Amino acid sequence: MTDDDRDALENIRSAARSILKQEINYLQLVPSVAVKLLKLTHDDNARAEDLTRIIETEPTLAARILRNVNSAAYYIPNKTTSIKRAVNILGFSAVRQLALNLLFYNKMIKHDPKQQFNQLFFWQHCLFVASLSRAIAVTIKHPDPDLVYTGGLIHDIGKVVLETYGRVTYSDFIAVMGNNRQLNLAEEHNFFGLTHTEIGHVFCLEWQLPEAIKAVVACHHNQPTSDSPFAEYNTEIAIVSFANYIAWVQGIGSIANHSHPALQQSVLETINIDRLDIESLLQQVDKEMQNTREFYGIEFPTLHKLRATLIKATINLSQLSAKPQADTEFKANRRVASSLTAPHQSLNPDDFVPKTLEAIHNEFSFDRSIMFNSDAKRRCLVASHWWPKLALTIEQQPFEIDIGSVSGKLLTALRDKQAVLIDTKSERNNPFHKHLQSEEFIIVPVLRDNSLVGLLYADNALSKRPMHRHLLAELMPIADELGIALINARQYDMEKKRAQLDPLTQLFNKRMIDQFLTQIFQREPISLDKIAIGFIDIDKFKLFNDLCGHQAGDDALKIVADILRSLTRPADFIGRYGGEEFLFVLKNTDENGARGYAERIRKEIERRGKILSQRFNNHLLTASIGVAMFNKQYSHHKQMIEIADQAMYQAKREGRNLVIVLNSPIQK
Ligand code: GH3
Ligand code: MG
Ligand code: MG
Repeated sequence: MTDDDRDALENIRSAARSILKQEINYLQLVPSVAVKLLKLTHDDNARAEDLTRIIETEPTLAARILRNVNSAAYYIPNKTTSIKRAVNILGFSAVRQLALNLLFYNKMIKHDPKQQFNQLFFWQHCLFVASLSRAIAVTIKHPDPDLVYTGGLIHDIGKVVLETYGRVTYSDFIAVMGNNRQLNLAEEHNFFGLTHTEIGHVFCLEWQLPEAIKAVVACHHNQPTSDSPFAEYNTEIAIVSFANYIAWVQGIGSIANHSHPALQQSVLETINIDRLDIESLLQQVDKEMQNTREFYGIEFPTLHKLRATLIKATINLSQLSAKPQADTEFKANRRVASSLTAPHQSLNPDDFVPKTLEAIHNEFSFDRSIMFNSDAKRRCLVASHWWPKLALTIEQQPFEIDIGSVSGKLLTALRDKQAVLIDTKSERNNPFHKHLQSEEFIIVPVLRDNSLVGLLYADNALSKRPMHRHLLAELMPIADELGIALINARQYDMEKKRAQLDPLTQLFNKRMIDQFLTQIFQREPISLDKIAIGFIDIDKFKLFNDLCGHQAGDDALKIVADILRSLTRPADFIGRYGGEEFLFVLKNTDENGARGYAERIRKEIERRGKILSQRFNNHLLTASIGVAMFNKQYSHHKQMIEIADQAMYQAKREGRNLVIVLNSPIQK
């Protein structure tokens, strides 16, 4: 460290002293145990023992760890009473991670709704960044992914310090700055006299944390220059910066309803993001977040809330990038372009793409504009939406372009991912010209993560007005927004589907079961007459788990789900109601039909169990099934479900591996 660096740091420290409440002791904020845990690096020889020892010196932490380890989320068959055993079973990383999460953020779980700074939202951000950072570190073969996790977990610790100990708090800052904007370091500096990265850095120094973690906390918004002492941690910093950026654009920023920070070019240069499969990374992170949710029994903001945040933030960004630039006459007198915000008005492409094309028409007065989607499997571009509605006649549909056959300037556009103005006098065999008879048109590739997701086409073929080259630069930001919106829409669809299915069996989950039953009880009163609802509950499944282990238990659940899928008609409905309970709804079925179906299921489960009995330690796999037939006395599906449940319990009482059908609500 040079003298200048030292002076700069001393200045920051004294600034910190003046903006924090006097009485704070640095080590009070986070217990010394956390600091010790953070200092355990991956190459410590005796790291498992050290970890155990550290946790055992903090009785409340030890108790909380054991409680969590024994909670349902880990499925440990016998209760664990020793930290050492917990470390052996779950591994060093998982236990340390759990301990750090508890130590740093446990206090935050209670959110004070009066404060602007939503601690729960913030905590979720930190966990998301930590978990994504580690997943990226693993992918790019970083030697110490756990260290990167920790960096991600506490990268924004400065904000907590300001919120908890500042004379003016982070909540005050947010309140003064107003909602829905991009809060940047310069604004923090104006307000506090220090940024959250600087104050975080001071705390890391006081705690004597590893250099790499200091570097991440200090530099996650500005990659260090090559002469900085932190330059050697460029990779760690870039990973956390990138994860932070993704968290924000996913709607999981550290503060709700604000735009995401800028992504620095140097981050992209440091980690080669083309090598990252972002979709699968996000899936891993989602899974971890789900576990965390179960652990603490807390509800993070819902998917819808996150999506709403995301949309608001992206609209803000669009407004920023639509700021007029002095050098083009066209931009100068344009207000915030609605063509830039239209893509973010919904998550349904059939809704936002036509709106965007309409906005483009209003702003640029093109005769025709067409959106093409890229179909990667078939390697072609398919016209999905156009403006005006009659731009493509029925005979012209479907309009597809084989990517392999493209040449000339169009090829350049697709290969170099650049907008082009094409004059077809020199390119007569251009597919657009052939199909649309346009002499001159603009093509703008729609990209996401630098890969082609579609293409925007515009021409003035009817009015023959000339097209100007500067339109290319005008259309590019719109194509960017469309790219973001299309990918968001796709991801939303995937997540929606995931939210409807039980992850283990891929059957509908309880929420969808309730929704389905509510719907048929509301909408189809005539068909109710012939409806049957049944419960399938695996017999002695607790014992099965104890004898064969949870993995075999999970396999058995999947087998039952497969049997249900193969024996159920498409119009009927099956779902996983809970643990080892499945539910079916049969339409147009009388009592004989329902009994027949239930018997087929029961026998097939028994038969498959016998075949697999060796694998299942000779424990038989059987199920008890209770069925309720519709009766006019039921006004709500819950009453019918209750009867099915009673029938199932009767089957249990009468010896299990049995089907019982009940006809009326009074029967016991
Ligand atoms: P009964 O014949 O009376 O239904 O006895 P049972 O043991 O099946 O019933 P009980 O409700 O007592 O136990 C259900 C067990 O199912 C407890 C739990 O360990 C197990 N279970 C629930 N969900 C899962 C899961 O997702 N995977 C595995 N492997 N087991 C599960
Ligand atoms: Mg059971
Ligand atoms: Mg049960």
